[in-house]
Amino acid sequence: MKIDWPFFAIKPSITISSLCYSIFRIEPYTSCTYSCVFCYARWYRKPLPLTSPQILEAWKRLANSLRNVDLPPPFFRLSTLTEPFQEQLEARHRTSLNIMRIAHKHEVPLIVNTKSDLIGKSPWIDELLRLADKNLVLVQVSLTATDPEISKALEPNAPMPERRLKLIEYLKGHDVPVIARLQPLIPGIERPQLEAARKALDHGSLGIIVEPLRETRDGLIKVAKALRKDPEEYLIEFKWEPYVPSSSDSELLRPNLEWRREIFQELHAVISRYGRIMTICKNGLWLNLSSHDADCCQSQYIKAPHSIRETLYERLVRSRESLPNIHVLHEEHFMRYPRIIRRALKLHHNKLRKILGKKDLLNELVHYA
Ligand code: SF4
Repeated sequence: MKIDWPFFAIKPSITISSLCYSIFRIEPYTSCTYSCVFCYARWYRKPLPLTSPQILEAWKRLANSLRNVDLPPPFFRLSTLTEPFQEQLEARHRTSLNIMRIAHKHEVPLIVNTKSDLIGKSPWIDELLRLADKNLVLVQVSLTATDPEISKALEPNAPMPERRLKLIEYLKGHDVPVIARLQPLIPGIERPQLEAARKALDHGSLGIIVEPLRETRDGLIKVAKALRKDPEEYLIEFKWEPYVPSSSDSELLRPNLEWRREIFQELHAVISRYGRIMTICKNGLWLNLSSHDADCCQSQYIKAPHSIRETLYERLVRSRESLPNIHVLHEEHFMRYPRIIRRALKLHHNKLRKILGKKDLLNELVHYA
């Protein structure tokens, strides 16, 4: 099977092409045993006719080819569609462990996104510490709420939040850069989610990334039931709007703008009190609430040189200077990367250019707090 750019990059879309600083990912698995009620990844997963050795072989080839480029590599997310350290699969196949080994060998930066504390155990922690020694990693620990009852209802098979908080503390204590992803932000559990942000910061999270819920109507009914709310009232109370801007026939819905503004403001106030930063993921450009000193993945905590792409922010508000560890890519740089990388960068760049030409769409994407 020919491995092309979609294997390593997210597809261009209004949200991703206009907002995401890195579009690259490496997916170790095609299913997730955690069965979170709100899992958005379920719509994007495709059965992948690749075995673990084939995935690793493709990753090895790409990582190796990036060594010959005279620009820093982009960072890759491990992973976007499944939990990479889900115990049942990872203990047997060790695909994520081997992905980390290859990243270490070829010096490709990773953002590890997990709810599992398996990564805090040997041999995973040993590999993670090796990556951290070379400044090649940032860990993002996903939290929904730290209340065990809420977590049990929404993320039935994931490790309890207490274990994830301990993981944050452990990683911080071992000089592994770690931040919490508070996601998804869910109407009806605002207080517990603010509490989760506080706890993550108390346990050493360097910053917080937030991302509101996106769901189908049926999915919202499931979320409401899990939270023991009346589904009909839940649908009415939060005035759900289409997730894709300018699209009234989007099947995906998100909480209304005012709800999002309010929760972002409250979280921003909490996080600022700790002197840390908040970034908002995949939810338009919030000029005064999301920190724009950093990219929204907060990749500044990866100290090894890496590249990021330009987004709506750089095009509309302020161009970004390259830093010793962060190289800002421009179109003329794309050709210097292997085909898989340059093709994905080009497609997202073209999509971004089209978005910039649509005034109505831009009005929906840009928010001034
Ligand atoms: S851990 Fe992530 S990928 Fe797995 S079910 Fe939960 S939300 Fe989906």
